[in-house]
Amino acid sequence: MSRLRQDLATRTWSIIAKERGKRPDDFAKTKAKEKPKPSYDAKCPFCRGNEDKTPEAVFSIPAPGAGNDKDWVVRVVPNKFAALAPPEPGTDTGREKTGIYLEMGGCGAHEVVIEVPDHSQTIATMSEEEVARIVHTYRERFLELDRSDWNQLIIIFRNQGKEAGTSLEHPHSQIIGTPVVPQEIRRRLEEAQRYYDDHGTCVHCDILHHELAEKTRLVCSNAGFVALCPFASTVPYETWILPRRHASSFGVLTEEGADLLAKLLRETLLRLHHLLGNPDYNYVVRSAPHHSAGEPHFHWYIEILPRLTTRAGFEIGSGMNINIVAPEDAAAQLREAL
Ligand SMILES: [Zn+2]
Ligand SMILES: [Zn+2]
Repeated sequence: MSRLRQDLATRTWSIIAKERGKRPDDFAKTKAKEKPKPSYDAKCPFCRGNEDKTPEAVFSIPAPGAGNDKDWVVRVVPNKFAALAPPEPGTDTGREKTGIYLEMGGCGAHEVVIEVPDHSQTIATMSEEEVARIVHTYRERFLELDRSDWNQLIIIFRNQGKEAGTSLEHPHSQIIGTPVVPQEIRRRLEEAQRYYDDHGTCVHCDILHHELAEKTRLVCSNAGFVALCPFASTVPYETWILPRRHASSFGVLTEEGADLLAKLLRETLLRLHHLLGNPDYNYVVRSAPHHSAGEPHFHWYIEILPRLTTRAGFEIGSGMNINIVAPEDAAAQLREAL
């Protein structure tokens, strides 16, 4: 019999309906054999040497001992097809009425983090040093974008592979700053606030303590962070990386914390990579909106969602997911994966 499980933080239900005999190999097999990628692709706008194919960099890290700025190891550029962009000085950034409807100018930010010069890599195959540079870059850009008046919410995310919606192969992440706090985020904040009112504790701190004692859903951990498969996982092998110490905003991450996060992010993705044969996935840094930074009830974390199954009519109609791999099984397999 299947089980319905509720996420303690969002009160969203998932149906855990284990498909008997489903092994990690079955997911790996569904992915068509891909030919190895080259280290350099002349047509790729993100490869080193093709810098003229993108807008000018807003941030970059030069290669150790680099002679010029063409010799970068991380490069951040505005997205060429930006969903949101900083407003021109003097433009109206307020809301406007259109009949009974509301609209506003698309001010915000949309940046691409080009993670490494090498076209063929992915985080799981990068060195610890390379991943550390990426996390430090996230931190730098988060702090910079957070200083703007119009970036209410900053979302750092990575889409890996076609199933996850990426159009470019070159290893990259994206950062979007939005001028509004979306309804879904507001709902999460309200639920966290409600939990805090009832218990006097942060819901994710409580989840963390419970999972560390319970152990069955733990994947791996270090001094700063814990990776686990959540109790009400919405998709097979969903994994969260939570900071051990309560903080609502990603922006408070220290340099040392960024190193620890990079280590655990790489290890978690490497485990998924080994177990599931380089799966497509999305990850998202869930951080409090600008005006809720410092709240005792909201806890930032990274949510990794492998794209192994398709969201279809039932999921769209109900807002509930059917997950065919129990998180306890997923975590056990991920612990064994390395
Ligand atoms: Zn490339
Ligand atoms: Zn907390």
